[in-house]
Amino acid sequence: MNLILIGPPGAGKGTQAKILEEIYGLKQLSTGDMLRAEIADGTDLGKKAKAIMDAGNLVSDDIMVGMIESRIEQADCAKGVIFDGFPRTVEQAKALDTMLGKKGKPVKAVIEFVADEETLVDRLKSRIAQTIAAGQEVRGDDNEETFRKRLGVYRAQTAPILPYYEGTGLLHKVDGMASVEDVSKEIKALLG
Ligand code: ADP
Repeated sequence: MNLILIGPPGAGKGTQAKILEEIYGLKQLSTGDMLRAEIADGTDLGKKAKAIMDAGNLVSDDIMVGMIESRIEQADCAKGVIFDGFPRTVEQAKALDTMLGKKGKPVKAVIEFVADEETLVDRLKSRIAQTIAAGQEVRGDDNEETFRKRLGVYRAQTAPILPYYEGTGLLHKVDGMASVEDVSKEIKALLG
């Protein structure tokens, strides 16, 4: 079973992806985490991606599609994947359809996390405070200005994917402002 989680930054996709991994034995693929691993490893790709990410912009479709294409071939993806942060453009969505179509393993559901932007900014601020209090490093793109930029990029480049999936009948909306437990219940219910 393949699932796609779509929603603005901070809407809780990663948290729900972890829960779904446990329940359904799927593999979460977070393209944000994959890019941050490239940065931590100091690869050429990581170096290129860091400046783009820190500005709140999107890494190119070619790079992201290539990254996902090779990753889903690995053994840990055999039972299915939870796509978290991919696709983020209509171009990526079409490329993913083609990829999964070839494998004969289409998408079972696309879950949209509906969220209020100002609440997301408040959540970000408390997350930054907690990270600092825990003595951990704050992400380069986790400051209010860049976060607002990411929200705008979501609206302009990622939200246009939604009508595309609506047309396929696969799109389900969940309330990203509800508690972690309630969102999780909603998702389980829609997956049947
Ligand atoms: P969030 O969901 O909180 O915005 P992510 O960790 O998913 O954070 O992504 C962080 C950054 O990584 C994005 O702002 C973007 O620069 C880059 N990125 C992640 N996934 C993609 C993607 N599919 N296409 C383009 N850029 C991406």
